[in-house]
Parts: sequence; C-alpha cells; structure tokens
Amino acid sequence: MLAPYAVTESVSRGRAHAEPPPRERGEFQRDRDRIIHSTAFRRLEYKTQVFINHEGDLFRTRLTHSLEVAQLSRSIACALGLNEELAEAVALAHDLGHTPFGHAGQDELNACMKAFGGFEHNLQSLRIVDALEERYATFDGLNLMFETREGILKHCSLDNARILGELGRRFIEGTRPSLEAQIVNLADEMAYSNHDVDDGLRSELLTLEQLDAVAIFAQCRREVESRWPNLSGRRLVHETIRRMIDKLAFDLINRTRANVVDAGVETLGDVRAAPALVEYSEETRLRLRELKTFLFDNLYRHERVLRMTHKTRRIIADLFAVYMADPDLLPAQHRANARDSGSDSGKARAIADYIAGMTDRYAIKEHRRLHGKIETNDLRG
Ligand code: MG
Repeated sequence: MLAPYAVTESVSRGRAHAEPPPRERGEFQRDRDRIIHSTAFRRLEYKTQVFINHEGDLFRTRLTHSLEVAQLSRSIACALGLNEELAEAVALAHDLGHTPFGHAGQDELNACMKAFGGFEHNLQSLRIVDALEERYATFDGLNLMFETREGILKHCSLDNARILGELGRRFIEGTRPSLEAQIVNLADEMAYSNHDVDDGLRSELLTLEQLDAVAIFAQCRREVESRWPNLSGRRLVHETIRRMIDKLAFDLINRTRANVVDAGVETLGDVRAAPALVEYSEETRLRLRELKTFLFDNLYRHERVLRMTHKTRRIIADLFAVYMADPDLLPAQHRANARDSGSDSGKARAIADYIAGMTDRYAIKEHRRLHGKIETNDLRG
C-alpha cells in the first residue's frame, strides 16, 4: 500500500509519446527496464566516479555508484510508503549524462562549451533519455514517464528551464518534485559520502587516523570497537561504514516522516507546494557536512587525484579542440549531426554529446590516436 502522496500511474503526467500500457509490469518498472537496457547505462561501467576506471577493479565506477544509489533510494522509499520503482528508475538514470573522468571531465567540457550554452551533466542525463538514445522505431530517446524525467533533472538554470517547458516549470515557480525524486537526490550524496571513504582508505589516499577527526566516523568506529575490541583492517572499515549508512538512512527516514506530518501533506500536489520535505535532522546534516568537507579537502583535492584531474582535463580539452577544428575526424553519425546542425553551437553540441558519451578508456585511446600518449595510470604513485 502506497502513501496517498506517492507518485502512482493514476496521478502521473505520463509519456510524451502515447504507448500501449505494458503487460505484466507497471509503467515505472518499464522505465527502469528501459534505462537498464540503454547504451548510456552500460557505459557507466567504464566511467570514473573518483578513481580512473583502470586504477583498480574494486573502486566504485559510475555504474556501481548508481546501483548503490538505487539500493538506498529503494529502501528509503519503501520505508516511507513511496513508489520504489520510480525511485529506482531515477537513481539508475541520475548519472547517465556524466562525462568520462568524473567531475574533472564535466568541468572541462563545460569550459569548452562556454560560448555554446555550457555543458551540465544533469541536463545531459535528461538529453540522453529524451533525445540521444536510439532504440525505438517511432521516437527518439526512451520516452520515459514525466515523473522519472522530472527526478533526473535535479537542478537547472532559469534559462534552460524556460527552454524545457513543462519539465522546467518547477524551477521557475519554485515548486518541488516528488518525494521519490527528493529521496534520490539525498541518496546520491549518502552513497558517495560513504563509498568514497571506503575507496579512499582502500587506495591509501586516506588513513583511519585522519578519519578519526570526523565525528560521524569516529563515533561509528567506537561503536564497532567497543563490541569487537580486536577487529581491524577491512572488517573494521566495513562495520564502521555500514553503521554510518544506517545512521544516515534512519535519520533521514524519521525526519522526513515527521516533516510530512508537520506539513499536513496528503497529496502529491501538497508535496509539490511544500518546502523540501526529505531531509536530515539538523545534527545529522551538520555531521554529514563535516564528512563531505573532509572528503573534499583530503580526497578530492589530494595531490594525486588533482594530478589526474589535470591530465584528464587536458584530454577533454584536446579532443574538443581537434573536433571543432576538423569535424571530419568524428565518426560518421556524429559528423552528420555536427554538419546538419548548420551552426557553430550546433556543431559544438554534437561534439559535446560525442565526448560526454565516451568511457574513460575510449577517451584515452582516442586522444592517443590523435595526440600521442598521456600517461594516466600513475594515480597511486
Ligand atoms: Mg551520483
């Protein structure tokens, strides 16, 4: 039984292109299935989260990150009586638009696209499911339900919101998306804040001693050590991290439940009109912020990560410049897109679509073909 303010098929704004209803599954399950079968989804396996894909087999990639976000989103949605399939679909699609090389790639491509409307991975995720996937005979993209697309578009500039019409309206009017979409937004942060601790320790870019300065980590570690005083190594780390995730999820569920009651929310319309209802308690929010600040200072800005960032930004910049100067270097389909656009900004957008779709290793290989070798496998030393 879903809560009365959950997204359901009967209150959905449906699909842009009418289709016969699915047999033996719901519309939001169909969305999830379409996302899993998409080309962009398979590419996530070879895209960086923090560590370049070939640095090690056990680090998170965009794909395993997306699966962890989906798991957390489903659990939280289920606890709150919300639409699990919608939360799962949004979570699996939320990073489809990411470039190779994580945020370094996104920042560089955005810089390259500055004169042509910029590049934003969140908007690119929507562009993939709305336009770029080529799978169906009668429409471009995946023709997803409105609420799935709305959840994918986490943020958006006012200029872009105006172009997007109905989907952009909430950014202009200042209303909220569904609770399911709000959950995925926070589950994303919850997932990376925890798995980056794990990957940071595994890579030895972070140490347990450093992490003891972070209250939520230190508290969870103490809980583990008081129960198992001799525990060490991977088991200590994992028992600590699972407690952090549990604390965060439990706090989020309880605070959100209370918010829904306090705001007198009874319908999806009430959810949209209310302030953001999915949130942590004040104390937990501050703890999580402390953890994120720690990760920013010590992992994302670690000299070895920055060295990689520097190199991978060059790869993106070089590829963009070379294709802009000579679009004939693009593969046939992308060359046709760049030519048919008939404008510089259209050409740049076709090139950005091509580069954004690349996996890490494809971008490295393509760069090597065009420019010679940049050594990218020395993150660890
Ligand atoms: Mg993410």
